[in-house]
Amino acid sequence: MSEVLNVEEIFASKVFTFGKMKERLPKSVYREVRQLMDWGGELSPASADVVAKAMKDWAVENGATHYTHWFQPLTGITAEKHDAFVTHPDTDGKMIMEFSGKELIKGEPDASSFPSGGLRATFEARGYTAWDVTSPAFLKEDATGVILCIPTAFCSYTGEALDKKTPLLRSMEAVSQQALRIVRLFGNDRATKVVANVGAEQEYFLVDREKYLRREDLVFAGRTLFGAPAPKGQELEDHYFGTIRERVGAYMKDLNVALWKLGVTARTQHNEAAPAQHELAPVYETANIAVDHNQIVMETMKKVAGRHGLTCLLHEKPFAGVNGSGKHNNWSLCTDDGVNLLDPGETPNENIQFLLVLACIIKAVDIHADLLRQSASDVGNDHRLGGHEAPPSIMSVFLGEQLEDVVKQLVETGEAARCIEGGKLETGVSTLPDFQKDATDRNRTSPFAFTGNKFEFRMVGSSDSVASPNTTLNAIVAEAFCEAADVLEKAREAGNLEVAVHDMIKEYMTAHQRIIFNGDGYSKEWVEEAARRGLPNFRSTVEAAGTLTTEKAVKLFEKFGIFTRVELESREEIIYEIYAKTINIEALTMIDMAGKRYIPAVVKYSRLVAQAVVAVREAGLEPEAQADLLREVNGNLSAARRALEGLKEAAAQAVAIKNAREQAFFYKDVVMKAMEELRTPIDALEMMVDKEIWPVPSYGELAFEI
Ligand code: ADP
Ligand code: MG
Repeated sequence: MSEVLNVEEIFASKVFTFGKMKERLPKSVYREVRQLMDWGGELSPASADVVAKAMKDWAVENGATHYTHWFQPLTGITAEKHDAFVTHPDTDGKMIMEFSGKELIKGEPDASSFPSGGLRATFEARGYTAWDVTSPAFLKEDATGVILCIPTAFCSYTGEALDKKTPLLRSMEAVSQQALRIVRLFGNDRATKVVANVGAEQEYFLVDREKYLRREDLVFAGRTLFGAPAPKGQELEDHYFGTIRERVGAYMKDLNVALWKLGVTARTQHNEAAPAQHELAPVYETANIAVDHNQIVMETMKKVAGRHGLTCLLHEKPFAGVNGSGKHNNWSLCTDDGVNLLDPGETPNENIQFLLVLACIIKAVDIHADLLRQSASDVGNDHRLGGHEAPPSIMSVFLGEQLEDVVKQLVETGEAARCIEGGKLETGVSTLPDFQKDATDRNRTSPFAFTGNKFEFRMVGSSDSVASPNTTLNAIVAEAFCEAADVLEKAREAGNLEVAVHDMIKEYMTAHQRIIFNGDGYSKEWVEEAARRGLPNFRSTVEAAGTLTTEKAVKLFEKFGIFTRVELESREEIIYEIYAKTINIEALTMIDMAGKRYIPAVVKYSRLVAQAVVAVREAGLEPEAQADLLREVNGNLSAARRALEGLKEAAAQAVAIKNAREQAFFYKDVVMKAMEELRTPIDALEMMVDKEIWPVPSYGELAFEI
């Protein structure tokens, strides 16, 4: 029997929750912290000391020896620098563990080694981390010991954001302020803020660690750079929602426990479409906490995998030929008095506030389709978007039958008198209940789909932080709300609010209906249709990067104080840098594997075949098959050698390019092509060479033997 898990007891046991603060802080200090969480501001130095002491005492009681400001630099992952709670021993030589308010609130990690895109010259490498009071501190427990992690924002000496959290927090404030203006127009005087909620579904692959370690491409690049397809892929659709293998199940169980302790509401788990692919979904929560928690999910997934002799691959495309991994970013807006602005109710055609919100979102996505697409781009995701599994790289909005019909009526007549109802689904079996079905079916091919009471942004890559997509979503919707409120507030003063709202919904939906697409987003026809509609199609990360610094983007982000022009320019620069470095690592890995593993193995094999040719001939027979095989192997070997030289040369040329943008494009257009050219003969050889001699585990072994 396995031990009984008390989820209620372990949940958030490693988090310094409100509950623990309430228990451990004097009432007045607790109130001050709560106030700060809701309204911002600064903690007084005296209170900061009190909070720090309470936090430290709790952490130490739970075994902590160190603390860290936990932040999210532009590498896309998290960073930490551990400091022990150790201070000068007293005169008796006794050590007292200490942690001051100053240390809690502000940190000063050397910022020079994080990507800054030229924001911060190395000689002024000061960077500061500042406690994000809205995200609770937690204890990380592993072989390093127990570390108190304090979620922080990371800024430069001159105040520019060097991380993903700061702009996200700024965007949340912006959308809250502008959304409040909208709900006020509809008579809501109780709400004091509007919160962006996010639920990030996380896809991942699990492979056997021992096999993983035998493949340099997985170790260095996180994805296979070579590999012939296995005889079986996902065509039987037998993995999706299939029974979970015991070894994977044991992993999921440990993962859940580890996450629950950290206050992450891991809820749903299932096998995904590709062999060895799985998914975990938490319950949604406030955007910045969801972003922090998603980082914790990714980190914990990797860590727990190691304990099970597995490796968790978060790369968007670990294997060619089967589905890659994404991260569905579910997003909605909710007032603090409990109204989800994206809830249409039973009869959306009568819900004017919802229709206005929807119209604003449609407008925002249409105007800033480029930015939204950019926010979901990263190097790995380029292999996924536009394939036949993930959404295309073209932004569009899926509304579903019911809402599409409402929009159609509004556009055509200015009124939406009817609405399609769900109706009954008859099972046709007397012992099964009939049930009410939703008015709208799902569409899995849309990058931005309305799913009942939220939008599901499906473009995001599995390894990426969800900070950027949500920062962008919040920003573009804040702008649309602001523009709407500017007009409607005047109309209210003039006493014709109702007519103005009505006109605005019709106007927005008419002007921006080109972004609505309910068909098959994977089809070739859509690419052509989208081009006719004038929708942007950025096929790669490097092509999308420039959208950050268009006048339109700068105006948007500066207006709401989310990014300055300089911050945007630096972010664009970092995208090129990271892109170039990533492809360079991939190219070098291929050069290494081809030169040291594949080619020597093929040489060895071809010698055996050549010996067989001679032996058969000596035995008086014609070695027809052996000679054919030898010719074929030899031909591919020559091609591989040539391609290897080609790749070496391309990589050398790329490194010499000084301009970051130019260099990134060179990697995309030239180096990637040279990589493909090397892969082709090697993958062909894999199908000819003796398995005993082939130097790395195959796709079949990686995906099916765990
Ligand atoms: P599916 O795989 O069918 O899209 P899941 O249940 O796996 O659905 O995931 C849905 C995600 O959406 C969960 O993380 C869930 O908490 C989140 N979610 C549900 N309602 C909202 C909402 N109003 N706002 C944001 N996220 C939501
Ligand atoms: Mg989903």
